[in-house]
Amino acid sequence: MPEECLFCKIFAREVPAKEVFRDEEIVAFEDIRPVAPVHVLVIPKEHIPSVHELTPAHGVMLARMIQVANGIADERKIDRDGYRLVFNKGPQAGQTVYHLHVHLLGGRAMAWPPG
Ligand code: 5GP
Ligand code: ZN
Repeated sequence: MPEECLFCKIFAREVPAKEVFRDEEIVAFEDIRPVAPVHVLVIPKEHIPSVHELTPAHGVMLARMIQVANGIADERKIDRDGYRLVFNKGPQAGQTVYHLHVHLLGGRAMAWPPG
C-alpha cells in the first residue's frame, strides 16, 4: 500500500470514515464534502490509481463495487428516482484522490451534461 494514499488508509482504518459497508475486498463510506443528499464513495482494497489502470482481471471486483453502490441506493430508497455512479479520471475530470473509487450520487435531480 502506498504510504501516502488516503483511501488505502481509510481501508486500513488508519484514517476514520463514516463507513456504510465493509467486507474483505470493498469499503463504502460517506464523502466528507457531500455534493448531493446521498454521496457515498465505494473503494476496493487493492490500490489502483484510477479506472485507466483496470484490466479484465479486475472485472469481478469492479462489478462488486457497483453492486455495493446499488445496494446502498436501495437502502437509501433512491433506486426509483435514480442515481449517478461517477468515476473521475485525471485533473480535467476532477480526480483528487488517486485510489480507484466510484461516487454514488443521488437524492436530487442532476444536470446533464455534467459541468
Ligand atoms: P475525486 O475528486 O478524486 O473523484 O473524489 C475524491 C472524493 O474524496 C471527493 O469527493 C472528496 O470530498 C472525498 N474525500 C477527500 N478526502 C476525504 C476524507 O478524508 N474522507 C472522506 N470521507 N472523503 C474524502
Ligand atoms: Zn490506495
